[in-house]
Amino acid sequence: MDVTKQEMKKGKDAVVVSGARPTGDIHLGNYAGAVSNWISLQEEYTCFYFIADYHALTTSYQDTGGLRQKTLAVTADYLALGIDPERTTLFLQSSVPETAELSLLLSMLTPVSWLERNPSYKDLISQLSNLEIRTLGFLGYPCLMAADVLIYHADLVPVGEDQLPHLELAREIARRFNYYYGETFPEPQALLTRGRVLPGTDGRKMSKSYDNIIAFSDPPESVKKKVMNMITDPSRIRKTDPGHPEICSVFAMHKEFNTSGCPGIERLCRAGEIGCVDCKRDCAAKLLEFHAPVHEKRMDLLSRPGDLSDILEQGSKTARALARQTLAQAREAIQIGFTAHE
Ligand code: ADP
Repeated sequence: MDVTKQEMKKGKDAVVVSGARPTGDIHLGNYAGAVSNWISLQEEYTCFYFIADYHALTTSYQDTGGLRQKTLAVTADYLALGIDPERTTLFLQSSVPETAELSLLLSMLTPVSWLERNPSYKDLISQLSNLEIRTLGFLGYPCLMAADVLIYHADLVPVGEDQLPHLELAREIARRFNYYYGETFPEPQALLTRGRVLPGTDGRKMSKSYDNIIAFSDPPESVKKKVMNMITDPSRIRKTDPGHPEICSVFAMHKEFNTSGCPGIERLCRAGEIGCVDCKRDCAAKLLEFHAPVHEKRMDLLSRPGDLSDILEQGSKTARALARQTLAQAREAIQIGFTAHE
């Protein structure tokens, strides 16, 4: 394969690989910024989506008690939201241990300076100073990420602008491998995702770290309550004051979950013809039209944990068959070990 003259594959010929750590229940922000994109990509491409439990260990190795439960919970969320295991390979990263071996092989040729200059490494080290995070695993996670995508010969990796340096690192690692051992890995391309950032109930970015999320695990009553308590435009004192939807978190929810009603809400708000309480009530109702069936479905799926782990196991089997082939190619390229003659 001549990867230097790599042509961009299209449609179902193109492999998309993406993963997310099982750090907690999926919330509306995760849906708006990541999962909705996964769902639409599965229409067009051959997708491999994984639950990155090895990656979860990079920051949570001291407390792994809830890892299996969180893995099942996010699996239920993904399925309820529309990830379709009939069309997409949905699997568990640690059920494909070939990834770990490829990561080890890649780590042999990855200079530490590449890892240390990784911007999110520097950011997280300063943000998470309370955790003992200066581990080999955390420093080396870009190698694991490179293995995650290279092992499936990914053509496209959906990333936000902020994750571009990670993908660049994976491409550099692939290039270096190809340089030493011959053309083995195509360099994955970025599939830039539109940067919708959904604010949480307090107006900051919705994030588990801020305790401001609306999750699909929240029952409808709690969703309603959270929306009714959301912070709106602080300059609006009276109902008749003209509002500023562009700075209002409730309006951001309308934009995401009430697409058709959104222009009307914007007009009424700017004209001071709708009060924040009515606007929130409307928002909660529209949001629940989407949220409630997903909530119900994920609760039903979670009541059958055996079925969930079977789905993951099935996906992992498919992923593993491909991973085995790629690992054998990599071992052959390096000329490590002997091919087994059976
Ligand atoms: P959290 O901040 O809650 O820990 P994660 O870091 O686990 O979320 O994010 C998982 C994915 O969801 C990432 O791709 C991230 O970009 C996306 N995401 C998280 N929060 C938001 C948000 N508020 N708006 C848009 N996308 C988000």
